[in-house]
Amino acid sequence: MPPTRYDSEIDGEGGTIRVPDAKAGRLKPAFFQAAKTFWPEEESPSIGFRELLNELGFALRRKVATRVETRQISAPLAPLRKVVLGDEVSRVLLAEYAAHQMSERGTEETGWVLLGVRRADEAIVLATIPAGTGRVADEGHVKFDSDVQAFASRVVRQGHKQLTMLGVVHTHPGSLRHPSSGDYRGDIRWVANQKGQQGVFGIGTVDATPDGKAGISWNPAPNVQCLGKLCFSWYVLGAGDRNYRPLAVELSIGPDLGSCLRPIWNELETHAARLNRLAQRLNGVTFEIVPGQQQPTLTMTVPIGEDDKAIRVEMEGKAVRYRLLTPDGTLAADFHEDRVDVGVYLMLSELAAR
Ligand SMILES: [Zn+2]
Repeated sequence: MPPTRYDSEIDGEGGTIRVPDAKAGRLKPAFFQAAKTFWPEEESPSIGFRELLNELGFALRRKVATRVETRQISAPLAPLRKVVLGDEVSRVLLAEYAAHQMSERGTEETGWVLLGVRRADEAIVLATIPAGTGRVADEGHVKFDSDVQAFASRVVRQGHKQLTMLGVVHTHPGSLRHPSSGDYRGDIRWVANQKGQQGVFGIGTVDATPDGKAGISWNPAPNVQCLGKLCFSWYVLGAGDRNYRPLAVELSIGPDLGSCLRPIWNELETHAARLNRLAQRLNGVTFEIVPGQQQPTLTMTVPIGEDDKAIRVEMEGKAVRYRLLTPDGTLAADFHEDRVDVGVYLMLSELAAR
């Protein structure tokens, strides 16, 4: 199980948790725009600023990082020395954190699961998955929606089997730029089962003092990125460690492979638990996000192993449609069933009776 519960005891204990000084601050709407700007050259050793600008004109819409993350990963794992964020990952974290701050639940903690690849002493983050609206959170802790996390990870990893869960980012309402003792108790159990027995942990705070370079991020320390008043502080924790170590953060060109989920996030949350169960029980189930009748649509395809037929379920807004795909064409099922697992089993039953 991932470390999904955070900060039940945010105060820390016994001096084992470092609490840096920082000023509290509030967020302004301008950060929606600011979150889309770039890292300056002196603060992003992995790519030059001019090179980044040239690249961004067209690179963000193509699958640059497909190249990155399909590369053969063969070097043995070493203790983590840095976390590398795809630039889209970094932007998504900042933009969604800014949006969260201005939402009705802005005073609560929130978070993201990080998927990516381990390579030698690096963790390369290539996908973010939000905690989900089903999270249980207040000002002191956040517990992620595990059904949503599991299903979202399944969809993202469907075409990228090498992605593993690298760690978790979560936010703190004040200026504690370090995981709390409550965080530690959950994280230390989780990292023992991770690849390399280490995990990456990011802490988001809204406590930076903007330095006047509007729209440009800066790194007050190698493990801290700030943009406006938003800050993400990065740490690594290994099995047996008594405390987190600061983890240097770098930026590289790359996608957020989880961004495709955002347009169908409501549908994903509505059906995640039932879709998870179906995917566990039936062979060859696949999911896609496709253009629908009105909006992006989550689809599930279940091969039924005869004459290349398959059941297709389309989840678009509140609608759930069932179809039978055959080599001769597509047949629409004439029943309504919002519970997708029930609907699929109804179709399988109908087909078996023929
Ligand atoms: Zn925490």
